[in-house]
Amino acid sequence: MREILHVQAGQCGNQIGGKFWEVMCDEHGIDATGSYVGNSHLQLERVNVYYNEASGGRYVPRAVLMDLEPGTMDSLRTGPYGKLFRPDNFVFGQNGAGNNWAKGHYTEGAELIDSVLDVVRREAENCDCLQGFQICHSLGGGTGSGMGTLLISKIREEYPDRMMLTFSVFPSPKVSDTVVEPYNATLSVHQLVENADECMVLDNEALYDICFRTLKLTNPSFGDLNHLISTTMSGVTCCLRFPGQLNSDLRKLAVNLIPFPRLHFFMQMWDAKNMMCAADPRHGRYLTASAMFRGKMSTKEVDEQMINVQNKNSSYFVEWIPNNVKSSVCDIPPTGLSMSSTFMGNSTSIQEMFRRVSEQFTVMFRRKAFLHWYTGEGMDEMEFTEAESNMNDLVSEYQQYQDAAAAEEEDYDEEVVEN
Ligand code: GDP
Repeated sequence: MREILHVQAGQCGNQIGGKFWEVMCDEHGIDATGSYVGNSHLQLERVNVYYNEASGGRYVPRAVLMDLEPGTMDSLRTGPYGKLFRPDNFVFGQNGAGNNWAKGHYTEGAELIDSVLDVVRREAENCDCLQGFQICHSLGGGTGSGMGTLLISKIREEYPDRMMLTFSVFPSPKVSDTVVEPYNATLSVHQLVENADECMVLDNEALYDICFRTLKLTNPSFGDLNHLISTTMSGVTCCLRFPGQLNSDLRKLAVNLIPFPRLHFFMQMWDAKNMMCAADPRHGRYLTASAMFRGKMSTKEVDEQMINVQNKNSSYFVEWIPNNVKSSVCDIPPTGLSMSSTFMGNSTSIQEMFRRVSEQFTVMFRRKAFLHWYTGEGMDEMEFTEAESNMNDLVSEYQQYQDAAAAEEEDYDEEVVEN
């Protein structure tokens, strides 16, 4: 069995992670005490990807929960699914990170990281054949972002050949009032580019817009945003959890979706209005994409429709990667629905989101505003400069591949004219 080890870090990470496990339990027929109460053998066939089987046949999430303050984890522990988790997998401090990436990465977080690694190691050793790790966190705060990326780099050091998948929530001023979030997010992206294999981008700006414009919620709460996130997490992990799927493990997913190693930030969508990250795919091109359909439907029809969509929208897919859209069908729909689909793409338009954060970063950094909070924790200004240019490079790389496609099309047009 190819196990995945899940980590959730900080307030946001623990809140979306908590929801993730509720949905997992629901889909795999596991109740809040860890007992199987389901109705299909398919629910258990690959249940070991995310769960350990404890004595007495109980299913226990292979999850490590960490935070620098006890609040969010206390609510999880006392909540309806609190008994599901292994109690000694909760690792927390008392002082908090105060929305300061430096505290999470270099001071408070660095003090706690060894206790987290002990638990990670214990879980990893229990695995038959660990395929990799997944981490849920926000990039705008201090713990999930600073300590989360510290953990990612430590895990990479210790398990260099295992995959690292992240569910990363990008900050937006629309749902937050902490001004330093662009700093924290940029410092995190700098780490994720180097140390993560695949990042599922969840953007609070886009999630807010979906709630506000499409769902007509006048004042969306984190609960509303997290509902969208847990639906997405269920969709993108479906292929890993049920048998017979395309992209059935983290490495296959990476091979299909990542043509260049740094460009591993995926967006998810229902349609162009309802992207999970604030970027419009019509402003760029898909390098690769994959679609997962769930429910009882004909594979033939799905294939035909997918080809149809690609033919109609061919200018939005780079021509220099043939067959760059893959699709698969899973028999089991999400609870409460008869069918669903999740579309995941590696699109050059994601640069719009990075540009937004980068602009917010640059206006403050130019004046060195708020920098003393970071240098006070021992950080060097140089790391800010490097993070800024790494993110700008990333934007240029996306642009370069977007243009490569465009240039090729112009050549092609000329050829057609000449002929
Ligand atoms: P940490 O505990 O230090 O990691 O800090 P937070 O996770 O609270 O990070 C703050 C960032 O996360 C801000 O951008 C918030 O808007 C966002 N955030 C906090 N909680 C949630 C949540 O439950 N859902 C979502 N979508 N975003 C959150």
